[in-house]
Amino acid sequence: MTNTADDLPACAGCGRCCHLTVELRPGDEAVPAEYQIWHDGVACMDQRGDGACVALDPATFLCTIYDRRPQTCRDFTRGTDRCRQAVAGRPGKAAR
Ligand code: SF4
Ligand code: SF4
Repeated sequence: MTNTADDLPACAGCGRCCHLTVELRPGDEAVPAEYQIWHDGVACMDQRGDGACVALDPATFLCTIYDRRPQTCRDFTRGTDRCRQAVAGRPGKAAR
């Protein structure tokens, strides 16, 4: 059965998955340094107090570095269990 994800909000303006921890990987050098933070020796996207990525526009919920976003963000797939958990407000504790 095809998962059309028609029951989900549009990604533009959702941004729930942008409240998950995003680890940076080799190849993510385009991410501005001021948006990065180190956790236990691992470079990650910095987050605001509510967990939102600092690159997420708090008014529009759009990514402000879309063309430079990390590979993890590029790989995140709409309609997956992780997406649905994020939309439901249950992002869990694990990094995506
Ligand atoms: S992938 Fe899912 S959680 Fe992320 S913006 Fe799109 S609908 Fe929202
Ligand atoms: S870099 Fe952009 S797409 Fe990735 S979590 Fe931050 S706001 Fe979302």
